[in-house]
Amino acid sequence: MNDSNVATKQLVALKRKLDSAIESRSSLEEDFTLQSNLLIQFISKLSLISKGIDIELDNRLAQLRTLFTKSAPISDIEEKISIISKLLQQHSLTNEKTIAYTHEQFIQAGGSLQKTNGLPDNLRRDLRVLLTKTKQSKDSLIQYIPLLSKLLSFYDHALKSKNTTSTQGLLQPQAIVATPNKFSKNYDSTTFDINILEKISVSLSSLPLSKGHTNDLLAIKKKLMADQSSNEVLHHLVDIFDVIVADFKDEKNSAEIFLTSISATLTTVQVAVKETIVSQKTSHIANQKINNKLQNQLTDMTGSVEKALSLNQVKEDINDKLQYIALTLEQKLKFEQKSQQLLADKLNEMSVKVEQLEKQSIAFEMKLADQQKKSMQDALTKLANRAAFDDFFAKSMVRFHHKPFELALVVIDIDDFKNINDTYGHTAGDKTLQVIANSIVKNVSKGVFVGRYGGEEFVLIYSKIQEETLIIELNALNRFVARLPFKFKSNKVSITLSIGVTHITSNDNIHTAFERADQAMYKAKKQGKNQVIYIK
Ligand code: GH3
Ligand code: MG
Ligand code: MG
Repeated sequence: MNDSNVATKQLVALKRKLDSAIESRSSLEEDFTLQSNLLIQFISKLSLISKGIDIELDNRLAQLRTLFTKSAPISDIEEKISIISKLLQQHSLTNEKTIAYTHEQFIQAGGSLQKTNGLPDNLRRDLRVLLTKTKQSKDSLIQYIPLLSKLLSFYDHALKSKNTTSTQGLLQPQAIVATPNKFSKNYDSTTFDINILEKISVSLSSLPLSKGHTNDLLAIKKKLMADQSSNEVLHHLVDIFDVIVADFKDEKNSAEIFLTSISATLTTVQVAVKETIVSQKTSHIANQKINNKLQNQLTDMTGSVEKALSLNQVKEDINDKLQYIALTLEQKLKFEQKSQQLLADKLNEMSVKVEQLEKQSIAFEMKLADQQKKSMQDALTKLANRAAFDDFFAKSMVRFHHKPFELALVVIDIDDFKNINDTYGHTAGDKTLQVIANSIVKNVSKGVFVGRYGGEEFVLIYSKIQEETLIIELNALNRFVARLPFKFKSNKVSITLSIGVTHITSNDNIHTAFERADQAMYKAKKQGKNQVIYIK
C-alpha cells in the first residue's frame, strides 16, 4: 500500500468519524432544545402560578425564561436558578406564616359571626359545620379560598337577613301575612314563630282590662300579627307590657282614691259623732243648770209665799218671780232649739257623707262586677271565654251527676281558617271570627251556653235537648254559616264549619265528654268538613 492510499483511507475514516460526531452533536442539540423547551414550559407554568405573589420572583422567573430561549451560557442560568431557589425558600417561610394568620383570621371571623344575635337557624347550623371543618389549619393557602368564599357568603346572608328585619316595617302588613313562610325560608328565620304569636294574641284577648286599655291592646295585637320580624315583635311586646302596667296603675289609683275617700268620710263621721256627744253633754249640763235655776226659783217662790205678810206683797213677789221663770223657760227653749239644730246639722252632714260613700261603693262594686265579667269574656268575639266555659261545664256536670238530664256538648271548628289569615290577613281573620261568633249566638236556642274555646274553635253547652232536635238545630247553623256572603278584597268567600256533638253519659267526666265531642268534630273534618257529626 502506498502512502497516498493510506492517507485516503484515513481521510475516509476521519470523515466518517466527523459525520458521526456531527450526527451525535445534532442529536444532542435536539435533546437539549427539547429539554430546554420543557424547562421553558415548566418555568412559564411556575411563573403563571406564582404570578402576583412576589414581584421579584416574577421578574427573576421571566429573566430565566429569556435566558433559556436565548440559549444563554449555563453559568448565567445557574446563577439565576440559585437566586430563584433562595427566593422560593423565603417564600415557603412567609407562606407558612400567612397560612397561620389566615387560619386565625378565619376562625375569628367565624366566631364573631356565631356570636351575632338573631342569626337564622340554618345559617347558624351551616356556619358551625364550616368552622368544624376548618378547625385544623390547612397545608396551603389555596385551600382557604373556597372556605373564605363560603364564610363571606354567610356574612352576606347574615347582613341581608338583618336588613330584611329592619325594612319589614315598610312592607304592607297584608303582603307579609299573605306569604308567611317567605321569611322563614333560606337564611331568614329572624321572624317570630306565628304559632307563638297566635297564642300570645289569644291570651291578650282574655285580659280583663279597662275599655280604653282593651282597645289599645287590640290595636297592638293587630300590629303583632302583621309584623312578625323579631325587632317589631319585641317592640309590640314592650307596648303590651306598657298597656298592662298602665292599666294596673289606673286600677291601683282608683282603688287608692276609693279607700282614701272612705277613710276621710269615716274620719268626718267619727269627729261629728264625737262633737255630737260632747255637745249633748254640754247641753245636758246647761240644761241641768237651767233646771236647777228653775227649781231654785220655784223653791224661792214657795219660801217667799210662806214668808209674805200680805196678799199684795205675795202677788207682787210672785209676779216678779213668774216673769223671771218665764224668762228662764224662754232661755231654756232657745237653748234646746239651738242644740237640736246643731244636732240636726251634724246628722245631716253625716248622712251626706254616708250617701256619698254609698254612691262610691256602688260604682266600685259595678266596676268589680264588670271586671269579673270581662275575665270570663273573650275580648274579640265578646263570647264567654275558655275560663267561663270550664266553669260552666264543670257546674253542669255536677248538676248532671246529681240528677241526670239531657246535657250535650258541641265543639265547632272553622274549616280552613288558616287560609283566610294567610290570604287576606289577620284583620280579615279577626272580623270573620266575630261574624261567625254572632251567627252562632243568633242561630242557637235561647239559654244555650256559647263560648270561644280558643283560636277558631267554639263550644256550646245544651241542657234538656234531645239528639234529633239538637242535630237539626246544628245543621241549620251549619247551613246558615256556609251561606254567609263573606267578601275579602272583592273576592266572594264561603266559610264552613265542622261540628262535633255528644250527649253526656253517667260514666263521663269533663275530659271524656270533651274528648268525645272533639273526636266527633275531627270525624267531621276527616269526612270532608262542613258537616255535623254526632257521637253517642
Ligand atoms: P282545619 O279545617 O283543619 O281546621 O284547618 P284550619 O286552617 O282551620 O286549622 P289550623 O289549626 O291549621 O289553623 C287555625 C288557624 O286559626 C291558625 C291561626 O292562624 C288562626 N287563628 C287562631 N286564633 C286566631 C285569632 O284570634 N285571629 C285570627 N285572625 N286567626 C286566628
Ligand atoms: Mg282548630
Ligand atoms: Mg279550623
